Amino acid sequence: MTKKFIQEQKKELEIEKEKLEKQLSSFAEKSEKTKGDWQARMPSYNGGNLEEEADEVEEYSTRLALEKTLEGELNDVNLALEKIKKGQYGICEKCKKSISQERLKVYPQARYCKKCQG
Ligand SMILES: [Zn+2]
Repeated sequence: MTKKFIQEQKKELEIEKEKLEKQLSSFAEKSEKTKGDWQARMPSYNGGNLEEEADEVEEYSTRLALEKTLEGELNDVNLALEKIKKGQYGICEKCKKSISQERLKVYPQARYCKKCQG
């Protein structure tokens, strides 16, 4: 893996990080207590009828699910950036072998090689 490749991956990861944080902050708050934790906001309830209330509960559970997904992705991106800093980028966490460049190109925050991911 060349320095240039890692630099390019770093750029990709930083763009991805910004995108994910933007998406998350549109409906969730960053937790002050736990690093990397986000909390989905309740949709604003404006005293509608029961049907509207049910819609809001449904909307909230959708947000919760999306928040979990995005938060997980963001954590992986941060982890990858951390690995670049430590000079351990592109190494499979399970078998400690290099992850192929093609795989990293498609998914810069990959934590495992193709084989270990299953
Ligand atoms: Zn592996």
